[in-house]
Amino acid sequence: MAASRGELLGLTADELGALMVDWGEKPYHGRQLYGALYRRRQLDTGSMTDLSKSLRQKLASCTIGLPRLIRRQRACDGTDKYLLELTDGEKIECVLIPERKRNTLCISTQAGCPLDCRFCLTAMLGFRRNLNPAEILGQILYVLGDKNLPIGSVGDGSRPALTNLVLMGMGEPLLNLENVLKSLIILADPGGLALSPRRITLSTVGLVPQLRKLAQAPVVPNLAISLSATTDEVRDRLMPINRRYPIDSILQACADYPLKRNQRVTFEYVLMDGVNDSDDDARRLVKLLAHLRSKVNLLPLNPGNANGFRPSSPRRVNRFREILTGKGLPAYLRRPRGMDIYAACGQLHLAAAHSSRTTRTSRLDTNS
Ligand code: SF4
Repeated sequence: MAASRGELLGLTADELGALMVDWGEKPYHGRQLYGALYRRRQLDTGSMTDLSKSLRQKLASCTIGLPRLIRRQRACDGTDKYLLELTDGEKIECVLIPERKRNTLCISTQAGCPLDCRFCLTAMLGFRRNLNPAEILGQILYVLGDKNLPIGSVGDGSRPALTNLVLMGMGEPLLNLENVLKSLIILADPGGLALSPRRITLSTVGLVPQLRKLAQAPVVPNLAISLSATTDEVRDRLMPINRRYPIDSILQACADYPLKRNQRVTFEYVLMDGVNDSDDDARRLVKLLAHLRSKVNLLPLNPGNANGFRPSSPRRVNRFREILTGKGLPAYLRRPRGMDIYAACGQLHLAAAHSSRTTRTSRLDTNS
């Protein structure tokens, strides 16, 4: 068998054009190939009949490396969780959340995560490796091509239309910045996956230098900060990365993040009984965010936490929210989706059970 000429997914239109030139072809074939991959989602080069036969023969020795499905689970609320295997055997997860008027896909940017947030089940995996652009985009292409999805379609009814994308699955996207930025370009390109940056949200713990780079990137997505505490003392305990980037430094970077009209930075706040859910916490949160265009998503802690944290009571959650909204800070209670299949925020850990290496492999040193 001929040696592979390489992976096609994850290359920008310009890179595909340059590849064509390398092969002695006209550069515009790169744009054609790009359109076939992302607009028409033709993942078999043989079906790209707008390309010449000789070019298709050359392309036949390239790879279009979609992940392999290990397991799909459907929750009672219609949420689908995919456990996918990458070419080297690493496992990742992504979650499709259908709603009345939109379909949101939550994708992973790393296999595992090095950040060790104490309330997060994904953290138990430790860190495996960063995903490349082909692997980041491959999750989307896999789900869009899943013919077994009987969800209500927002699009033409023939396929589930993807209306919103969140980079909030396994991993910290800003620790894989270069690959994430490249994926964002293909995602937002009208000739690529054509998803408006306003419909893409990147969720981060708030790595300040990378956050500032993201603010300058060609495609700037919505920003969500996983905050979950109102003092450095508590956040140090919940999210060890806070020792390196304390709350004030994150808020300053958020203040400098470019926002379009009506756009706000989202702060995610996982409520934990007796840890971060007091009236004083709520009042402090209002003060912290007073000078930012922001909103707060309140997330009840999901069950199954290994470190003994408990979810706040519904009464406490409501009281917390009332204090925020009473002071004019928009705050929304997020209904956990897919809890029965562990697809909710901070619960992506099924990959651990399917991994041959289930020990923690590495952690980012957060003490320096
Ligand atoms: S909450 Fe996010 S950043 Fe923190 S350990 Fe879990 S996956 Fe990593």
